Amino acid sequence: MEPALTDPSGPSARTTVRRLPEKQVRDRAVLDAVLDAGRVAHVAVRDDVGQPYVVPVAYARDGDAVVFHGSTGSRLFRSLADGAPTCLTVTLLDGLLAARSVFESSMHYRCAMVLGTATVLEGDAALAALERVTEHLLPGRWADARQPNRKELAATLVLSLPLSEWSVKVSDSPPDDAEEDLDLPYWAGVVPLHEVAGPPQPAPDLRGAPPVPSYVTSWTR
Ligand SMILES: Cc1cc2nc3c(=O)[nH]c(=O)nc-3n(C[C@H](O)[C@H](O)[C@H](O)COP(=O)(O)OP(=O)(O)OC[C@H]3O[C@@H](n4cnc5c(N)ncnc54)[C@H](O)[C@@H]3O)c2cc1C
Repeated sequence: MEPALTDPSGPSARTTVRRLPEKQVRDRAVLDAVLDAGRVAHVAVRDDVGQPYVVPVAYARDGDAVVFHGSTGSRLFRSLADGAPTCLTVTLLDGLLAARSVFESSMHYRCAMVLGTATVLEGDAALAALERVTEHLLPGRWADARQPNRKELAATLVLSLPLSEWSVKVSDSPPDDAEEDLDLPYWAGVVPLHEVAGPPQPAPDLRGAPPVPSYVTSWTR
């Protein structure tokens, strides 16, 4: 029997992976780890004539929710604020998988999808969410930058999507070539991919030459 649609303890009927179901991970700790390791989420919205858009956004996990922000002038974000259902996806690309056949060639990844309806955060909750996103991207930055003023806050829509209906798919196996392909004269394996931060580039209009903060120089994944 399939789990109830809104079962908060794990994937629901519509978030049960059917294609390569062995790659589904139902452990909430893995969902948190994927969301905490990513920095860009893709959020699906439809405009008023039904055209879908997938919008990349900065985000952060805040306990049992994902928080993100957009412009109050964005019709796509306004439609989310009005209660349009959405799907938020975070993808971590971990490697290129070269099988003997191109059909079996693929990628190593960790991918989380969250379905639901976002709610608008306001006041202190909105400010706390903005701090959370800032700190998720560059820990130490919130306290070392000018805080948003009233006008900037008024122009910012802060949304929270609960982690109540989600799925995680993880691809981390070696190539799975068919037995009859194993003797073919092609290399097979995985090229691991890692993100590397380059040296900090000072803004050309930096005044007073403040030193590069240690949280910038020490930023690592
Ligand atoms: C980096 C990357 C590259 C990929 N490249 C390809 C490709 O080139 N071709 C291809 O066919 N597929 C690719 N996939 C897999 C793809 O994301 C889908 O899982 C797959 O296409 C099956 O989609 P479906 O809707 O038929 O899945 P179904 O199994 O029918 O989906 C049912 C439910 O499973 C969950 N689910 C499905 N896919 C994912 C996922 N990726 N992450 C988390 N939950 C998921 C959702 O909740 C969904 O509602 C790739 C995935 C990643 C992360």
